[in-house]
Amino acid sequence: QTNTRAYNFNPGPSALPLEVLEKAQRELINFRGTGMSIMEMSHRSSTFEEIHNGAIARLKKLFSIPDDYEVLFLQGGASLQFSMIPMNFLKAGQKAGYIMTGSWSEKAFKEAKLFGEPYQIASTKENKYRNIPALQDIQYDLDAAYVHLTSNNTIYGTGWHDFPDTGNIPLIADMSSDIMSKPIDVSKFSMIYAGAQKNLGPSGVTVVIIRKDFLETAITEIPTMLKYSTFVENNSLYNTPPTFGIYMLGEVLNWIEDKGGLSEITKLNEEKAKVIYDVIDRSNGFYTGHATPESRSLMNITFRIAEELEKQFLVEAKEAGFVGLNGHRSVGGCRASTYNAVPFEACQALSDFMVEFQNKHQ
Ligand code: PLP
Repeated sequence: QTNTRAYNFNPGPSALPLEVLEKAQRELINFRGTGMSIMEMSHRSSTFEEIHNGAIARLKKLFSIPDDYEVLFLQGGASLQFSMIPMNFLKAGQKAGYIMTGSWSEKAFKEAKLFGEPYQIASTKENKYRNIPALQDIQYDLDAAYVHLTSNNTIYGTGWHDFPDTGNIPLIADMSSDIMSKPIDVSKFSMIYAGAQKNLGPSGVTVVIIRKDFLETAITEIPTMLKYSTFVENNSLYNTPPTFGIYMLGEVLNWIEDKGGLSEITKLNEEKAKVIYDVIDRSNGFYTGHATPESRSLMNITFRIAEELEKQFLVEAKEAGFVGLNGHRSVGGCRASTYNAVPFEACQALSDFMVEFQNKHQ
């Protein structure tokens, strides 16, 4: 069974832990003696409620989320959060600071313009988003309703290693592509959100972690399903939630726990990324990394090869069983996404393949 699994470097949806898939397969038709699948069960049943609350509790524990935060499950992907955040927290005429580090920050910024006066407090666009702005270069406007950043830039392959201290201004982070890849200090943020489909489970669930006092500042005259408070007041069960996705998310969290929690996951992620970055760094320019070394992402490794060889690389990689290595359609090049569930062996195999390819073609 195991050897039929691809070396999956897809950027999202991406690899899930094999153990989780096998367990889900065993439980698919008769979930723990209920005679039905989890997908066929009422979301109001005690069986589902246990799964739902268990996933929330595990997320709180593993990510060390303080008690003054709510954990919510929404739908609509991280993309809906781009609109929901300003809809809930940005009044007409009010400012919000956006730190621009890539295409996802741009998309978030665009939505905020529909509600208030977002402005860019820092941007590395001029440098083709190769880096994260230096903390000392970021100026905050004390009038801002919030500051928004993207913790990991899936397309450009950069990530924040230290987060800015915004003082009394609420800090909001899109952590879609690196949530739970390493421990972070949640208390620095008023809100964190992430689509589940990279590190947490299948697509269809969006995790929102939001501080209660920030929530109290939200605008109330907005549609029920677009209000965070609806999800808080109903434990994310106001309407039918993506039950199978929440079950899978809970199982992925179980798997992280079994692996030894985030400190162990981080070590593994660092080892995985290192075997690939090392090949780039030792290639004498055959491979060139897109991100500047101090801004490198732990999750998305972006690199280029001389143009005439890039296609060849992708063709040969595909033949050798590697999946998902082409860069995002907007930037081209190559990208290896090494999310939590990608095993070290897959990264080592890619590293070996890259060395062989260079030896053969340079
Ligand atoms: N933000 C980041 C950093 C992402 O990588 C993605 C998806 O790749 C999104 C937002 C959009 O997420 P969704 O497809 O869940 O709307």
